Amino acid sequence: MTTIQIPGIRHFSNQVEEMTDGINLTIGEPDFPTPENIKQAGIDAIKQNLTGYSHNAGLLELRQKVSIFFKEKYSMHYSPEEEIIITNGASEGLDSVIRTILSDGDEVILPVPCYPAYESLVRLNGGKCVYLDTTNTAFKPDPAKLKTLINNRTKAIILNYPSNPTGVMLEKEEMDAIAKVLQEHELFIISDEIYSENIFNKTHLSFGKYNELRDSLFIVHGLSKSHAMTGWRIGFLLGPALLMEQVLKVHLNNAICASTPSQYAAIEALTKNKDTPSTMNQSYKVRRDYIKERLNKMGVDAILPSGTFYIFPSIEKFEINSYDFATQLLHNQNVAVVPGNSFSEYGEGYIRISYANTMEQLKTGMNRLEAFISEL
Ligand code: PMP
Repeated sequence: MTTIQIPGIRHFSNQVEEMTDGINLTIGEPDFPTPENIKQAGIDAIKQNLTGYSHNAGLLELRQKVSIFFKEKYSMHYSPEEEIIITNGASEGLDSVIRTILSDGDEVILPVPCYPAYESLVRLNGGKCVYLDTTNTAFKPDPAKLKTLINNRTKAIILNYPSNPTGVMLEKEEMDAIAKVLQEHELFIISDEIYSENIFNKTHLSFGKYNELRDSLFIVHGLSKSHAMTGWRIGFLLGPALLMEQVLKVHLNNAICASTPSQYAAIEALTKNKDTPSTMNQSYKVRRDYIKERLNKMGVDAILPSGTFYIFPSIEKFEINSYDFATQLLHNQNVAVVPGNSFSEYGEGYIRISYANTMEQLKTGMNRLEAFISEL
């Protein structure tokens, strides 16, 4: 455990929270509250004493709603009885799968920069991370490069589109090419699609659409980002029945089940709040465009994100490493961003800015960033 780092995100957000006029651009969760009716469904469940354990895999009614959600939205068919587990956030879904499939020395391919928990979870389970650098391919995995990384020790790949930290999504042809490589080899695919509902003017395509991958594919999902429910801890894990039977054993020994009142709130969210993500996306898009324009004016390059609420600009031209950049920005201007190297060493030369924040805060944040950059 001593070799596992505490994520850099926390380091900077903890410091900025102590400043009286600090601007926190590290936030990894929606800045909107959970919708009222969802909160009420949780309150009602508690009042009705629906506060005991649920089925280990989650309330059947919720699993049925999850199954319907994936069928209606993405034309994917997952059995509520055998192929869906309700987890404690997407995090526990990731953990349960990784624990189930990994043996000591197994290799897991991570397209990088990536969400920091992947690296920690792989290492915690005796695995070795093999990095697929995407920094020269617009943060998208190059299928030819991917092919060269697969060998007989490769156990899995973790994909995450829309991506944290880059906001990048894959086009259909790009997914087809990756799916083709994966299909030709024997490895598990963990597709973390937690940001699938947070997208702008695009359609999310799921790896679950590839029938030829279905037997080795796990989809990690949940309501944290889509319905502003991070603290309710509701995730969905989808996978083929034979494998899910094994994953369920890890999940039930670790957690027994997800929080029962939260599961009732989740049923409400999936039934009545289908439009909640698109309402939030309208705000995220306005903010994304604003930040991108301000960065352009500062002469800072960034790929326009297609989803999430992050942007990942390059700071390479300032010839200062991302940790020092973030530290000086925090101390000189009271603005917190996440240094790119928090997302693996391949994120060096970048910073992550979150626009899950009010326009007012973002404007002040950008003014201060501009002042900081002009002094560099
Ligand atoms: N995957 C990614 C890519 C994330 O960004 C996050 C949260 N920051 C998670 C998983 C974890 O989500 P949850 O809160 O549902 O556990």
